[in-house]
Amino acid sequence: MKWKEAILNLKPYQPGRSIDEVKRAYGLKEITKLASNENPFGCSEQAKEVMKNYESSLALYPDGNATVLRSAVSKHLGIQENNLIFGNGSDEIIQVIARSLLYPGVNTVMASPTFPQYKHNAVIEGAEVREVPLADGEHDLDGMLAAIDENTSVVWVCSPNNPTGRYIARDALVDFLRQVPQQVLVVMDEAYFEYVHADDYPDTIKLLEQFQNLIVLRTFSKIYGLASYRVGYGAAHSDLISRLDPAREPFNTNTIGQLAAAAALADQEFIAYCHEMNKKGLAQFYDFCEREGLKFYPSQGNFVLIDVKCQGDEAFQFLMEKGFIVRSGNALGFPTSIRITIGCPEQNLGVIEQLTVFLNRKK
Ligand SMILES: *Cc1c(COP(=O)(O)O)cnc(C)c1O
Repeated sequence: MKWKEAILNLKPYQPGRSIDEVKRAYGLKEITKLASNENPFGCSEQAKEVMKNYESSLALYPDGNATVLRSAVSKHLGIQENNLIFGNGSDEIIQVIARSLLYPGVNTVMASPTFPQYKHNAVIEGAEVREVPLADGEHDLDGMLAAIDENTSVVWVCSPNNPTGRYIARDALVDFLRQVPQQVLVVMDEAYFEYVHADDYPDTIKLLEQFQNLIVLRTFSKIYGLASYRVGYGAAHSDLISRLDPAREPFNTNTIGQLAAAAALADQEFIAYCHEMNKKGLAQFYDFCEREGLKFYPSQGNFVLIDVKCQGDEAFQFLMEKGFIVRSGNALGFPTSIRITIGCPEQNLGVIEQLTVFLNRKK
């Protein structure tokens, strides 16, 4: 068969291990999954109500325009409806961007380590991938600017960055955007935006007026707790949106997902609660790290990357056998670390307790 050469060496995405899989493998009754940055508090009750009361026909295709959700998000962000593109998760927006702007002969610039889907999709499209190492967990924006040339098509910026949780401050981002050539698309992936608590975090939606080569990605999978419904979106200048839109599948977001997302958006009280609880959870982990003398990256997301001073796989395996699924740093570009999703207070205590046992054994 005439496979694209680029895909021959690709491996499928390796998700964190599933709860059922781990239960079976280790004969455990209770499993706490802190591996994929899902919301430990689930989603808004209002979103659940929508799902419970959904009575329309499942035989009908969804609204390809996501009209109700589009209206809700545009009001929430204070932008026009034609500034938005919806996707089957923001993962799909990444794919649409790659399909539209990446091909053999152009290059694309990103940090490393960062969210793996930028590179994955760029490789599929046959574009040259230019990875600029993080500097102390943060994007090296000067290094990224230096990597841009006349063949650069897309620059990916992840803030807060997965897996380090570090962010880009307002002034640094604006300074960067001013220097990126106008014909280069800057993708600002803000999957963890609602968890951010830094005062100098930029209002990227406001920046869209000034920078017409910017697209901001957000999702209902993280703080909104709707990962299984697969809804994410991009916000950008309407010209940019109308260019990307034809590369999107016509019925890419499903009916219940659209309704649940709109209902979830209306319940900002729940979001504020999750934001606060996450901040407290982060503090639990910081205290633990300081107690144990472990290095970690202060995080603006709902996860923390901790250097456990041995192979991340080893800590991962130990915790899994005790019923806690975390993410080993080995697969994330930080071989001696683990990335832990912030859970509810008891879950945090539980994983911290087991991690303490693990560390004491290594002493
Ligand atoms: C989780 C995540 C996404 C993908 O989210 P979906 O909307 O569920 O596809 C995108 N970017 C980053 C950085 C993420 O961590």
